Amino acid sequence: MTNVMWFRNDLRIEDNEAFHSALKSDSLILIYIIDQQFLSKETTSPFHLRFIKDSLTDLENRLETKFYASLNIYCGDTVEIFKNLISKYKISCVYSHNIFKESYIKKVDDDCDALFRYKNIHWKKFDQFGIQLSNRNRSTWSYEWKKFMSKKYTDYTACNCKFIKDYKYRVENIKMDEICTDNIQKGGAKFAQNNLSSFLSDRGEFYRSQMSSPITAETSCSRLSPHIAFGTISLKRIYQETIKTIKTSDGDYKKSLMSFKSRLAWHCHFIQKYYDEPSIESSNLNEAYDGLRENSFNEKLFIAWKSGMTGFPFIDACMRYLKNTGWINFRMRAMLVSFASYQLWLDWRITSKYLARLFTDYEPGIHYSQVQMQSGTTGINTIRIYNPIKQSLDHDPNGNFIKEWVPELREVPDKHIHQPWMMSPIEMKFVDYKRGISYPEPLVDNVLSTQLAKDRIWSIKKTNKARELSKIIVQKHASNKNKF
Ligand SMILES: Cc1cc2nc3c(=O)[nH]c(=O)nc-3n(C[C@H](O)[C@H](O)[C@H](O)COP(=O)(O)OP(=O)(O)OC[C@H]3O[C@@H](n4cnc5c(N)ncnc54)[C@H](O)[C@@H]3O)c2cc1C
Repeated sequence: MTNVMWFRNDLRIEDNEAFHSALKSDSLILIYIIDQQFLSKETTSPFHLRFIKDSLTDLENRLETKFYASLNIYCGDTVEIFKNLISKYKISCVYSHNIFKESYIKKVDDDCDALFRYKNIHWKKFDQFGIQLSNRNRSTWSYEWKKFMSKKYTDYTACNCKFIKDYKYRVENIKMDEICTDNIQKGGAKFAQNNLSSFLSDRGEFYRSQMSSPITAETSCSRLSPHIAFGTISLKRIYQETIKTIKTSDGDYKKSLMSFKSRLAWHCHFIQKYYDEPSIESSNLNEAYDGLRENSFNEKLFIAWKSGMTGFPFIDACMRYLKNTGWINFRMRAMLVSFASYQLWLDWRITSKYLARLFTDYEPGIHYSQVQMQSGTTGINTIRIYNPIKQSLDHDPNGNFIKEWVPELREVPDKHIHQPWMMSPIEMKFVDYKRGISYPEPLVDNVLSTQLAKDRIWSIKKTNKARELSKIIVQKHASNKNKF
């Protein structure tokens, strides 16, 4: 009898419970599948494919070195690939981790489940995020999560397993031509471990005070998010190493690491929320907000926002940075969404898909919750409309970030860098700045569009329907312990 280890978003050999359990088999096929639906999704981009490719190369090397084992890579329809494997080998058990990604993956899993049942194949699924699959209990969630994260992480021991070499799809065959920079994060367990070590030993010291500016966040944040999303390191390991470091630190360092530790719980809280309410990917969490933006989508505004050509220098700098690197910090993500949803009044269902392509760490559970929170459609969060000019003054006071990413504004005097339209005609002439030609005029009036958005949102928020539905949502989703 042969078993299958199905690597999914757990591309590591350390602290990989599914893999370590599978190693007890007599004969084992190690597989990774690039599902054809994943390739054709509008949310999939070269940022993700490059990260997967790096991570697979790293995993293959580790498997080869530690176990003399090959990773079999397939590309196509997942169910058909399994049917083919089942016809070739007498498979008794499939090992994998539970995956909580987009709704099409749930459908793939349901189809695999039906196939395995029909063929009498046992599917052993493991948890890596402390998710309550049944009997969800809000009051014990935090406690149970900590218990899960504190469990000793599994390690592999010598095994007598016979590894089967079946097939290897060449990942290079996937067309990935959109990325033209080297500023992207590299995948693989080595980079994940390096990020964690450097963050805990050095980079994280001023995490709390430096996480909000895109200038300092690049090095002061952990940059572990794509590694967590693709599983090149386990969250449990990050959690335990953080706790160990907290015990030996004090002052700002300790406070920063405590703050980081809370975010690890947030990550899982949002995955839990998505598991409980998968419709947040496509529907307003609070249905009282249905119809709010759906019928007023302005393609011209959307294109300008996507291109980093809104005429608001800080918004444009952040968008261009994100498009170049595949990452930006939390506050700037929130600002980009807030600006699109409020000042430009664009439907989050469309803008969120575009951002998902750009976020190498795209994690539907976090992503759609956050996008809805920043668009005012959850009904349970404070309405926060970011002022792009204030954010610019707060987080890029000298305009250095703007000048780097919006080079057409490099000659603009510092005092006008946040609002170049405020230059006098003489000042414009002096730096050869032509309104609307050198750089776009602001797409909207910031003050008027903010006020209009506030009025529109509050006209719904204050209704009885919105209030009643919000109470139910709080009951179902909010954690008693953590604030997200
Ligand atoms: C509109 C919007 C969309 C987002 N989409 C995603 C997404 O698709 N994938 C994603 O991983 N994060 C997302 N985030 C959360 C956050 O911006 C990123 O996790 C963070 O910027 C990643 O960088 P880091 O690993 O250096 O984070 P750090 O600040 O070092 O945090 C460490 C880890 O904690 C978790 N984390 C941090 N902040 C949050 C948060 N607010 N909610 C939940 N978990 C958090 C992540 O796993 C992160 O890797 C989104 C935020 C917003 C406002």
